[in-house]
Amino acid sequence: MSRRKFLQQIAGLLASTSVVPLSAAPAKRIVVVGAGIAGLTAAQTLRQQGHSVTVVEARDRLGGRLWTSNRWQQMPVDLGATWIHGAKDNPLSALADRIGAKRLITRYAETTTYNTAGKPLNNAESRQLEQWQARVDNALEAAQNADRDQSVKAAVEKALGWNKLKANERQLVQFILNSTLEQEYAGGIHELSAHWHDAAAAFKGDDALFAEGYQVIVGHLANGLDVRLQHIVQKVVWSDKQVAVQTDRGAFQADHVIITLPLGVLKSGQVTFSPPLPARKRQAIAALGMGTLNKCYLQFPKVFWPQDQDWLEYIPTEAGAWTEWVSLTRVAGWPVLLGFNAAERGKRIEQWTDQQIVADAMQTLRKMFGNNIPEPVDYQLTRWNADPYARGAYSFNSVGSTPAMRDHLAESLGKTVLFAGEATERKHFSSVHGAYLSGLRAAQQIL
Ligand SMILES: Cc1cc2nc3c(=O)[nH]c(=O)nc-3n(C[C@H](O)[C@H](O)[C@H](O)COP(=O)(O)OP(=O)(O)OC[C@H]3O[C@@H](n4cnc5c(N)ncnc54)[C@H](O)[C@@H]3O)c2cc1C
Repeated sequence: MSRRKFLQQIAGLLASTSVVPLSAAPAKRIVVVGAGIAGLTAAQTLRQQGHSVTVVEARDRLGGRLWTSNRWQQMPVDLGATWIHGAKDNPLSALADRIGAKRLITRYAETTTYNTAGKPLNNAESRQLEQWQARVDNALEAAQNADRDQSVKAAVEKALGWNKLKANERQLVQFILNSTLEQEYAGGIHELSAHWHDAAAAFKGDDALFAEGYQVIVGHLANGLDVRLQHIVQKVVWSDKQVAVQTDRGAFQADHVIITLPLGVLKSGQVTFSPPLPARKRQAIAALGMGTLNKCYLQFPKVFWPQDQDWLEYIPTEAGAWTEWVSLTRVAGWPVLLGFNAAERGKRIEQWTDQQIVADAMQTLRKMFGNNIPEPVDYQLTRWNADPYARGAYSFNSVGSTPAMRDHLAESLGKTVLFAGEATERKHFSSVHGAYLSGLRAAQQIL
Protein backbone atom coordinates (compact mmCIF):
# COMPACT_ATOMS: atom_id res chain seq x y z
CA MET A 1 0.00 0.00 0.00
CA SER A 2 1.39 3.44 -0.85
CA ARG A 3 2.30 5.77 2.01
CA ARG A 4 -0.34 8.23 0.81
CA LYS A 5 -3.07 5.58 0.70
CA PHE A 6 -2.07 4.23 4.09
CA LEU A 7 -2.13 7.69 5.69
CA GLN A 8 -5.56 8.33 4.15
CA GLN A 9 -6.85 5.05 5.57
CA ILE A 10 -5.60 5.62 9.11
CA ALA A 11 -6.61 9.29 9.04
CA GLY A 12 -10.10 8.06 8.10
CA LEU A 13 -10.13 5.72 11.07
CA LEU A 14 -9.47 8.64 13.40
CA ALA A 15 -12.95 9.94 12.64
CA SER A 16 -14.36 7.16 14.80
CA THR A 17 -12.91 6.32 18.19
CA SER A 18 -14.07 2.72 18.37
CA VAL A 19 -11.33 0.10 18.35
CA VAL A 20 -11.13 -1.68 14.99
CA PRO A 21 -8.09 -3.96 15.02
CA LEU A 22 -6.96 -4.42 11.43
CA SER A 23 -3.80 -6.40 11.96
CA ALA A 24 -3.54 -10.00 13.08
CA ALA A 25 -0.13 -9.33 14.67
CA PRO A 26 0.01 -9.58 18.49
CA ALA A 27 -0.75 -6.37 20.36
CA LYS A 28 2.29 -4.34 21.34
CA ARG A 29 2.90 -2.20 24.39
CA ILE A 30 3.50 1.34 23.25
CA VAL A 31 4.28 4.44 25.29
CA VAL A 32 3.74 7.86 23.71
CA VAL A 33 5.58 10.76 25.33
CA GLY A 34 3.50 13.94 25.07
CA ALA A 35 -0.26 14.52 24.70
CA GLY A 36 -0.05 17.23 22.04
CA ILE A 37 -1.62 16.62 18.64
CA ALA A 38 1.30 14.51 17.38
CA GLY A 39 1.16 12.22 20.43
CA LEU A 40 -2.63 11.94 20.55
CA THR A 41 -2.82 11.22 16.82
CA ALA A 42 -0.20 8.47 17.02
CA ALA A 43 -1.74 7.00 20.19
CA GLN A 44 -5.30 6.96 18.82
CA THR A 45 -4.17 5.40 15.53
CA LEU A 46 -2.32 2.62 17.35
CA ARG A 47 -5.11 2.04 19.85
CA GLN A 48 -7.55 1.60 16.99
CA GLN A 49 -5.29 -1.11 15.63
CA GLY A 50 -5.65 -2.98 18.91
CA HIS A 51 -2.34 -2.07 20.54
CA SER A 52 -1.94 -1.28 24.22
CA VAL A 53 -1.04 2.41 24.34
CA THR A 54 -0.21 4.67 27.28
CA VAL A 55 0.39 8.40 26.83
CA VAL A 56 2.57 10.12 29.44
CA GLU A 57 2.20 13.88 29.69
CA ALA A 58 3.98 16.34 31.99
CA ARG A 59 1.19 18.91 32.14
CA ASP A 60 -2.13 18.66 33.97
CA ARG A 61 -3.98 19.07 30.68
CA LEU A 62 -4.12 17.61 27.17
CA GLY A 63 -3.18 19.33 23.93
CA GLY A 64 0.30 20.77 24.53
CA ARG A 65 0.59 23.73 22.18
CA LEU A 66 -3.14 23.35 21.44
CA TRP A 67 -4.68 25.05 24.45
CA THR A 68 -8.18 26.52 24.45
CA SER A 69 -9.11 28.74 27.38
CA ASN A 70 -12.77 28.76 28.47
CA ARG A 71 -12.31 31.52 31.04
CA TRP A 72 -14.53 33.90 29.07
CA GLN A 73 -18.03 32.49 28.85
CA GLN A 74 -19.18 32.04 25.23
CA MET A 75 -15.73 33.16 24.02
CA PRO A 76 -13.31 30.22 23.97
CA VAL A 77 -9.89 31.55 22.92
CA ASP A 78 -6.86 29.58 21.77
CA LEU A 79 -3.69 30.40 23.66
CA GLY A 80 -1.62 28.11 21.43
CA ALA A 81 -2.46 27.49 17.78
CA THR A 82 -5.54 29.22 16.40
CA TRP A 83 -5.82 28.43 12.70
CA ILE A 84 -5.90 25.62 10.23
CA HIS A 85 -3.45 27.32 7.88
CA GLY A 86 -4.62 26.75 4.30
CA ALA A 87 -7.92 24.96 4.88
CA LYS A 88 -8.22 23.50 1.35
CA ASP A 89 -7.08 19.85 1.20
CA ASN A 90 -5.61 20.23 4.69
CA PRO A 91 -5.91 16.91 6.56
CA LEU A 92 -7.20 18.84 9.59
CA SER A 93 -10.13 20.15 7.55
CA ALA A 94 -11.04 16.56 6.69
CA LEU A 95 -10.84 15.59 10.38
CA ALA A 96 -12.87 18.66 11.40
CA ASP A 97 -15.51 17.87 8.74
CA ARG A 98 -15.87 14.31 10.01
CA ILE A 99 -16.48 15.41 13.58
CA GLY A 100 -18.68 18.35 12.52
CA ALA A 101 -16.49 21.05 14.09
CA LYS A 102 -17.69 24.55 13.18
CA ARG A 103 -15.04 26.78 11.63
CA LEU A 104 -14.78 30.50 10.97
CA ILE A 105 -12.74 31.99 8.14
CA THR A 106 -10.42 34.97 8.66
CA ARG A 107 -9.11 36.73 5.57
CA TYR A 108 -5.92 38.70 4.95
CA ALA A 109 -7.89 40.70 2.38
CA GLU A 110 -9.69 42.28 5.35
CA THR A 111 -6.59 44.10 6.61
CA THR A 112 -6.01 47.74 7.51
CA THR A 113 -2.46 48.96 8.07
CA TYR A 114 -1.88 52.00 10.31
CA ASN A 115 1.15 54.26 10.01
CA THR A 116 3.35 55.20 12.96
CA ALA A 117 1.14 58.20 13.73
CA GLY A 118 -1.84 55.83 13.92
CA LYS A 119 -3.59 56.76 10.66
CA PRO A 120 -4.66 54.17 8.06
CA LEU A 121 -2.15 54.22 5.19
CA ASN A 122 -3.19 56.50 2.34
CA ASN A 123 -2.67 55.43 -1.28
CA ALA A 124 0.81 56.93 -1.52
CA GLU A 125 1.91 55.26 1.73
CA SER A 126 0.46 51.91 0.61
CA ARG A 127 2.38 52.17 -2.66
CA GLN A 128 5.58 53.01 -0.76
CA LEU A 129 5.09 49.97 1.48
CA GLU A 130 4.53 47.76 -1.58
CA GLN A 131 7.75 49.09 -3.14
CA TRP A 132 9.76 48.27 -0.03
CA GLN A 133 8.13 44.84 0.12
CA ALA A 134 9.27 44.23 -3.49
CA ARG A 135 12.84 45.29 -2.58
CA VAL A 136 12.86 42.96 0.42
CA ASP A 137 11.51 40.11 -1.75
CA ASN A 138 14.22 40.75 -4.36
CA ALA A 139 16.93 40.81 -1.68
CA LEU A 140 15.74 37.48 -0.29
CA GLU A 141 15.45 35.92 -3.73
CA ALA A 142 19.04 36.90 -4.51
CA ALA A 143 20.18 35.53 -1.13
CA GLN A 144 18.44 32.22 -1.86
CA ASN A 145 20.45 31.89 -5.06
CA ALA A 146 23.75 32.69 -3.33
CA ASP A 147 26.21 29.88 -2.55
CA ARG A 148 26.57 30.65 1.13
CA ASP A 149 23.70 30.88 3.57
CA GLN A 150 23.32 33.95 5.78
CA SER A 151 20.67 35.40 8.06
CA VAL A 152 17.64 37.15 6.59
CA LYS A 153 18.78 40.30 8.39
CA ALA A 154 22.28 40.26 6.90
CA ALA A 155 20.94 39.56 3.40
CA VAL A 156 18.31 42.30 3.46
CA GLU A 157 20.45 44.95 5.14
CA LYS A 158 23.30 44.39 2.68
CA ALA A 159 21.04 44.50 -0.37
CA LEU A 160 19.16 47.61 0.77
CA GLY A 161 22.24 49.56 1.91
CA TRP A 162 20.95 49.75 5.48
CA ASN A 163 23.36 52.44 6.68
CA LYS A 164 22.09 54.87 4.08
CA LEU A 165 18.39 54.38 4.83
CA LYS A 166 16.42 57.10 6.57
CA ALA A 167 14.73 56.36 9.92
CA ASN A 168 11.23 56.07 8.39
CA GLU A 169 12.52 53.75 5.65
CA ARG A 170 14.12 51.50 8.26
CA GLN A 171 10.83 51.40 10.14
CA LEU A 172 9.04 50.23 7.00
CA VAL A 173 11.61 47.50 6.33
CA GLN A 174 11.51 46.37 9.98
CA PHE A 175 7.72 46.28 9.83
CA ILE A 176 7.81 44.16 6.67
CA LEU A 177 10.36 41.74 8.12
CA ASN A 178 8.48 41.41 11.38
CA SER A 179 4.95 41.15 10.03
CA THR A 180 5.72 38.78 7.15
CA LEU A 181 8.62 36.69 8.53
CA GLU A 182 9.10 36.91 12.31
CA GLN A 183 5.38 36.66 13.05
CA GLU A 184 5.09 33.69 10.72
CA TYR A 185 8.26 31.75 11.54
CA ALA A 186 8.70 32.94 15.17
CA GLY A 187 12.49 33.21 14.72
CA GLY A 188 14.35 36.54 14.72
CA ILE A 189 15.56 37.88 11.37
CA HIS A 190 19.14 37.63 12.68
CA GLU A 191 18.59 33.85 13.12
CA LEU A 192 16.32 32.90 10.21
CA SER A 193 18.18 31.23 7.34
CA ALA A 194 17.98 33.22 4.11
CA HIS A 195 18.20 29.91 2.22
CA TRP A 196 15.68 27.86 4.16
CA HIS A 197 13.38 30.02 6.32
CA ASP A 198 10.46 29.51 3.90
CA ALA A 199 11.16 25.86 3.04
CA ALA A 200 7.78 24.66 4.37
CA ALA A 201 5.07 23.68 1.90
CA ALA A 202 1.67 25.33 2.28
CA PHE A 203 -1.87 24.16 1.77
CA LYS A 204 -4.09 26.36 -0.36
CA GLY A 205 -7.21 28.19 0.76
CA ASP A 206 -8.19 30.50 3.58
CA ASP A 207 -7.21 30.21 7.22
CA ALA A 208 -9.94 28.70 9.39
CA LEU A 209 -10.31 28.85 13.16
CA PHE A 210 -12.51 26.70 15.36
CA ALA A 211 -15.62 28.40 16.79
CA GLU A 212 -15.16 26.28 19.94
CA GLY A 213 -11.37 26.40 19.85
CA TYR A 214 -8.85 23.66 18.98
CA GLN A 215 -10.11 21.77 22.07
CA VAL A 216 -12.68 20.06 19.80
CA ILE A 217 -9.86 18.30 17.94
CA VAL A 218 -7.93 17.50 21.12
CA GLY A 219 -11.01 16.07 22.85
CA HIS A 220 -11.87 13.92 19.85
CA LEU A 221 -8.36 12.50 19.43
CA ALA A 222 -8.00 11.77 23.16
CA ASN A 223 -11.29 9.89 23.40
CA GLY A 224 -10.76 6.50 25.07
CA LEU A 225 -6.99 6.86 25.46
CA ASP A 226 -5.05 5.95 28.59
CA VAL A 227 -3.34 9.28 29.32
CA ARG A 228 -1.25 9.77 32.46
CA LEU A 229 -1.20 13.49 33.15
CA GLN A 230 1.41 15.09 35.44
CA HIS A 231 3.99 12.46 34.56
CA ILE A 232 7.24 14.25 33.75
CA VAL A 233 9.50 12.11 31.58
CA GLN A 234 13.11 12.30 32.72
CA LYS A 235 14.94 9.52 30.94
CA VAL A 236 14.47 7.07 28.08
CA VAL A 237 16.52 3.86 28.35
CA TRP A 238 16.43 1.94 25.10
CA SER A 239 17.79 -1.11 23.32
CA ASP A 240 16.81 -2.73 20.05
CA LYS A 241 14.32 -4.98 21.89
CA GLN A 242 12.73 -2.91 24.63
CA VAL A 243 12.49 0.54 26.03
CA ALA A 244 11.84 2.03 29.47
CA VAL A 245 10.45 5.52 29.98
CA GLN A 246 11.31 6.90 33.40
CA THR A 247 9.03 9.58 34.83
CA ASP A 248 8.91 11.38 38.17
CA ARG A 249 6.09 8.98 39.07
CA GLY A 250 7.58 5.65 38.02
CA ALA A 251 8.80 3.85 34.91
CA PHE A 252 6.90 2.39 31.95
CA GLN A 253 8.22 -0.59 29.94
CA ALA A 254 7.26 -0.88 26.29
CA ASP A 255 8.03 -2.51 22.96
CA HIS A 256 8.08 0.93 21.33
CA VAL A 257 8.08 4.53 22.47
CA ILE A 258 7.08 7.55 20.39
CA ILE A 259 8.79 10.75 21.52
CA THR A 260 6.86 13.91 20.63
CA LEU A 261 8.79 16.31 22.86
CA PRO A 262 8.97 19.87 21.46
CA LEU A 263 12.33 20.87 19.95
CA GLY A 264 12.80 23.39 22.78
CA VAL A 265 12.51 20.59 25.35
CA LEU A 266 14.95 18.39 23.42
CA LYS A 267 17.39 21.33 23.26
CA SER A 268 17.20 21.87 27.03
CA GLY A 269 18.48 18.34 27.74
CA GLN A 270 15.89 17.92 30.50
CA VAL A 271 15.06 14.48 29.07
CA THR A 272 18.11 12.22 28.71
CA PHE A 273 18.60 9.14 26.56
CA SER A 274 20.63 6.03 27.37
CA PRO A 275 22.44 5.15 25.13
CA PRO A 276 22.75 8.83 24.09
CA LEU A 277 21.16 10.15 20.91
CA PRO A 278 23.32 9.67 17.79
CA ALA A 279 25.51 12.57 16.70
CA ARG A 280 23.46 13.69 13.74
CA LYS A 281 20.25 13.84 15.76
CA ARG A 282 22.07 15.92 18.39
CA GLN A 283 23.37 18.20 15.63
CA ALA A 284 19.85 18.66 14.28
CA ILE A 285 18.53 19.49 17.77
CA ALA A 286 21.28 22.07 18.25
CA ALA A 287 21.11 23.66 14.79
CA LEU A 288 17.35 24.00 14.18
CA GLY A 289 15.79 27.03 15.86
CA MET A 290 12.94 27.24 18.37
CA GLY A 291 11.07 30.52 18.03
CA THR A 292 8.76 32.61 20.16
CA LEU A 293 5.26 33.84 19.44
CA ASN A 294 3.16 35.27 22.24
CA LYS A 295 -0.49 36.24 22.29
CA CYS A 296 -2.36 38.88 24.24
CA TYR A 297 -6.15 38.75 24.09
CA LEU A 298 -7.93 41.91 25.22
CA GLN A 299 -11.67 41.87 25.87
CA PHE A 300 -13.33 45.30 25.65
CA PRO A 301 -16.73 46.57 26.80
CA LYS A 302 -17.44 47.68 23.21
CA VAL A 303 -15.91 47.55 19.74
CA PHE A 304 -14.01 50.73 18.79
CA TRP A 305 -12.11 49.41 15.76
CA PRO A 306 -13.35 48.78 12.20
CA GLN A 307 -15.78 45.90 12.57
CA ASP A 308 -15.37 44.63 9.01
CA GLN A 309 -11.60 44.06 9.29
CA ASP A 310 -9.94 40.83 10.50
CA TRP A 311 -6.34 42.08 10.63
CA LEU A 312 -5.13 45.43 11.97
CA GLU A 313 -1.45 46.21 11.43
CA TYR A 314 0.66 48.93 12.98
CA ILE A 315 4.04 50.28 11.85
CA PRO A 316 5.84 50.89 15.16
CA THR A 317 8.98 52.87 15.94
CA GLU A 318 10.28 49.94 18.02
CA ALA A 319 10.94 46.92 15.80
CA GLY A 320 8.31 44.20 16.24
CA ALA A 321 6.17 45.96 18.88
CA TRP A 322 2.49 45.01 18.41
CA THR A 323 2.64 45.03 14.61
CA GLU A 324 -0.14 42.47 14.17
CA TRP A 325 -3.63 42.38 15.63
CA VAL A 326 -6.57 40.13 14.89
CA SER A 327 -10.12 41.26 15.52
CA LEU A 328 -12.58 38.55 16.52
CA THR A 329 -15.54 40.84 15.80
CA ARG A 330 -16.38 40.16 12.14
CA VAL A 331 -15.96 36.39 12.38
CA ALA A 332 -17.28 35.69 15.88
CA GLY A 333 -19.09 38.86 16.96
CA TRP A 334 -16.86 39.27 20.02
CA PRO A 335 -15.40 42.57 21.31
CA VAL A 336 -11.97 40.95 21.46
CA LEU A 337 -8.61 41.93 19.94
CA LEU A 338 -5.64 39.58 19.81
CA GLY A 339 -2.17 41.16 19.65
CA PHE A 340 1.04 39.28 18.85
CA ASN A 341 4.71 39.69 19.72
CA ALA A 342 7.18 37.38 17.99
CA ALA A 343 10.87 36.46 18.13
CA GLU A 344 13.14 38.75 20.23
CA ARG A 345 10.37 41.18 21.18
CA GLY A 346 8.12 38.27 22.11
CA LYS A 347 10.86 36.81 24.32
CA ARG A 348 11.70 40.14 25.95
CA ILE A 349 8.21 41.01 27.09
CA GLU A 350 7.82 37.64 28.82
CA GLN A 351 9.96 39.17 31.59
CA TRP A 352 7.40 41.93 32.15
CA THR A 353 4.40 41.74 34.49
CA ASP A 354 0.94 41.18 32.99
CA GLN A 355 0.07 44.79 33.78
CA GLN A 356 3.12 46.09 31.90
CA ILE A 357 2.30 43.98 28.85
CA VAL A 358 -1.33 45.12 28.78
CA ALA A 359 -0.33 48.78 29.32
CA ASP A 360 2.18 48.49 26.46
CA ALA A 361 -0.50 46.99 24.18
CA MET A 362 -2.94 49.75 25.13
CA GLN A 363 -0.37 52.42 24.26
CA THR A 364 -0.28 51.10 20.69
CA LEU A 365 -4.08 50.81 20.48
CA ARG A 366 -4.41 54.42 21.69
CA LYS A 367 -2.10 55.53 18.89
CA MET A 368 -4.30 53.67 16.40
CA PHE A 369 -7.73 54.53 17.81
CA GLY A 370 -7.32 57.59 20.05
CA ASN A 371 -7.02 58.34 23.75
CA ASN A 372 -10.70 57.84 24.49
CA ILE A 373 -10.84 54.10 23.89
CA PRO A 374 -12.00 52.10 26.95
CA GLU A 375 -9.70 50.01 29.12
CA PRO A 376 -10.03 46.25 28.57
CA VAL A 377 -12.47 44.38 30.81
CA ASP A 378 -10.05 41.47 30.98
CA TYR A 379 -7.00 39.99 29.25
CA GLN A 380 -5.38 36.60 28.68
CA LEU A 381 -1.75 36.31 27.64
CA THR A 382 0.96 33.73 27.05
CA ARG A 383 4.64 33.17 27.85
CA TRP A 384 5.56 30.24 25.60
CA ASN A 385 9.29 30.69 25.86
CA ALA A 386 9.25 30.33 29.64
CA ASP A 387 6.93 27.32 29.47
CA PRO A 388 9.08 24.37 30.66
CA TYR A 389 7.17 21.88 28.51
CA ALA A 390 7.39 23.85 25.27
CA ARG A 391 10.37 26.23 25.62
CA GLY A 392 9.20 28.26 22.68
CA ALA A 393 6.29 28.40 20.26
CA TYR A 394 7.48 26.38 17.24
CA SER A 395 10.59 25.47 15.30
CA PHE A 396 12.19 27.40 12.44
CA ASN A 397 15.05 26.92 9.99
CA SER A 398 17.95 28.93 11.39
CA VAL A 399 21.26 29.81 9.75
CA GLY A 400 23.43 26.72 10.00
CA SER A 401 20.51 24.31 9.70
CA THR A 402 19.27 22.49 6.60
CA PRO A 403 15.87 20.90 5.83
CA ALA A 404 17.54 17.46 5.90
CA MET A 405 18.09 17.95 9.64
CA ARG A 406 14.37 17.55 10.18
CA ASP A 407 14.64 14.06 8.67
CA HIS A 408 17.49 13.35 11.10
CA LEU A 409 15.27 14.51 13.94
CA ALA A 410 12.54 12.14 12.71
CA GLU A 411 14.83 9.09 12.41
CA SER A 412 14.08 6.17 14.75
CA LEU A 413 16.59 4.69 17.18
CA GLY A 414 16.66 1.06 16.13
CA LYS A 415 13.14 -0.33 15.97
CA THR A 416 12.04 0.81 19.39
CA VAL A 417 12.27 4.61 19.68
CA LEU A 418 10.34 6.74 17.20
CA PHE A 419 10.10 10.50 16.91
CA ALA A 420 7.18 12.76 15.98
CA GLY A 421 6.14 16.38 16.57
CA GLU A 422 6.03 19.47 14.37
CA ALA A 423 9.80 19.90 14.27
CA THR A 424 10.26 16.44 12.69
CA GLU A 425 8.28 17.39 9.57
CA ARG A 426 10.51 18.63 6.78
CA LYS A 427 7.64 19.95 4.68
CA HIS A 428 5.11 21.05 7.29
CA PHE A 429 7.12 22.10 10.35
CA SER A 430 5.76 24.72 12.77
CA SER A 431 2.13 23.83 12.15
CA VAL A 432 -0.68 21.80 13.66
CA HIS A 433 -1.17 19.86 10.44
CA GLY A 434 2.57 19.06 10.39
CA ALA A 435 2.38 17.70 13.94
CA TYR A 436 -0.73 15.70 13.00
CA LEU A 437 0.97 14.19 9.93
CA SER A 438 4.03 13.35 12.03
CA GLY A 439 1.81 11.43 14.48
CA LEU A 440 0.32 9.44 11.59
CA ARG A 441 3.83 8.78 10.26
CA ALA A 442 5.16 7.47 13.59
CA ALA A 443 2.13 5.20 14.00
CA GLN A 444 2.63 3.94 10.47
CA GLN A 445 6.27 3.12 11.24
CA ILE A 446 5.17 0.84 14.08
CA LEU A 447 2.29 -0.71 12.16
C1 LIG B 1 1.23 30.89 20.16
C2 LIG B 1 1.20 29.81 19.11
C3 LIG B 1 0.44 30.00 17.97
C4 LIG B 1 0.42 29.02 16.98
N1 LIG B 1 -0.43 29.19 15.93
C5 LIG B 1 -0.58 28.19 15.03
C6 LIG B 1 -1.63 28.25 14.07
O1 LIG B 1 -2.44 29.18 14.07
N2 LIG B 1 -1.70 27.23 13.17
C7 LIG B 1 -0.84 26.18 13.16
O2 LIG B 1 -0.95 25.30 12.30
N3 LIG B 1 0.13 26.07 14.13
C8 LIG B 1 0.26 27.03 15.06
N4 LIG B 1 1.15 26.90 16.09
C9 LIG B 1 2.04 25.71 16.11
C10 LIG B 1 1.30 24.47 16.65
O3 LIG B 1 0.63 24.79 17.83
C11 LIG B 1 2.31 23.35 16.93
O4 LIG B 1 3.08 23.11 15.75
C12 LIG B 1 1.65 22.03 17.32
O5 LIG B 1 0.59 22.22 18.22
C13 LIG B 1 2.73 21.13 17.93
O6 LIG B 1 2.19 19.89 18.31
P1 LIG B 1 3.14 18.75 18.87
O7 LIG B 1 2.30 17.60 19.21
O8 LIG B 1 4.28 18.57 17.94
O9 LIG B 1 3.81 19.38 20.19
P2 LIG B 1 3.14 19.75 21.59
O10 LIG B 1 1.75 20.18 21.40
O11 LIG B 1 4.06 20.71 22.26
O12 LIG B 1 3.12 18.36 22.36
C14 LIG B 1 4.23 17.89 23.08
C15 LIG B 1 3.75 17.47 24.46
O13 LIG B 1 4.89 16.99 25.20
C16 LIG B 1 4.70 17.39 26.55
N5 LIG B 1 5.97 17.36 27.27
C17 LIG B 1 7.00 18.24 27.23
N6 LIG B 1 7.99 17.85 28.05
C18 LIG B 1 7.59 16.69 28.63
C19 LIG B 1 8.19 15.80 29.56
N7 LIG B 1 9.41 16.01 30.06
N8 LIG B 1 7.48 14.71 29.94
C20 LIG B 1 6.23 14.45 29.43
N9 LIG B 1 5.64 15.27 28.54
C21 LIG B 1 6.31 16.37 28.14
C22 LIG B 1 4.13 18.79 26.42
O14 LIG B 1 3.51 19.22 27.61
C23 LIG B 1 3.17 18.63 25.26
O15 LIG B 1 1.87 18.32 25.69
C24 LIG B 1 1.19 27.85 17.12
C25 LIG B 1 1.94 27.65 18.27
C26 LIG B 1 1.94 28.62 19.27
C27 LIG B 1 2.70 28.38 20.53
